[in-house]
Amino acid sequence: MDELIAQVNDGEPTHHSRVSTGWIEVIAGSMFSGKSEELIRRLRRAKIARQKVQVFKPEVDSRFSNDHIVSHSEMRHESANSRSAAEVLAKVDADTEVVGIDEGQFFDNELVSVANELARRGVRVIIAGLDQDYTGKPWEPMPQLLAIAEYITKTHAICMKCGQAANYTQRTFESEERVAVGGEGMYEARCRNCFVPHADAPTVDTE
Ligand SMILES: [Zn+2]
Repeated sequence: MDELIAQVNDGEPTHHSRVSTGWIEVIAGSMFSGKSEELIRRLRRAKIARQKVQVFKPEVDSRFSNDHIVSHSEMRHESANSRSAAEVLAKVDADTEVVGIDEGQFFDNELVSVANELARRGVRVIIAGLDQDYTGKPWEPMPQLLAIAEYITKTHAICMKCGQAANYTQRTFESEERVAVGGEGMYEARCRNCFVPHADAPTVDTE
């Protein structure tokens, strides 16, 4: 048995910088479901544990800040912009232990192989993103990432029409664009019953 282990280890580099194996965590849900907040919470805990953390977001998402990821509840964490998944891989330092990625749905499909490669190197990869677009279709590469992840967290918002757990993002303005960054009141969290896969009138507070 020892001989077998020795043979297996022969093919591996002798200068291991880490002992633990990596893995992939995905945090997926609709808008306003607290994805970024949960991502930031995990990153903060990793930093408390004195782990080296790097965070990336796609360049398209510059709504709030260019060098931070920011949750709707104003939690923030410094981050670097990336134009592609390949750029993320190129920017990860050799001694980084945790990689956080926000708005995963805005990245190209290469994010799947990049996440696998980082995990193979021993990195803990945490990716947050919208799992469906405004029509309710799965939003690549999130479905693929959910398939390869060791750990999945589905976050839920509260339906603005009826108060049930919400799994959909309702667009309340007319646009055929899949990516249309809207401000306050242009998107609503909706449950399965209240969601319609096209623009719908914003919920009005009747009280
Ligand atoms: Zn509802």
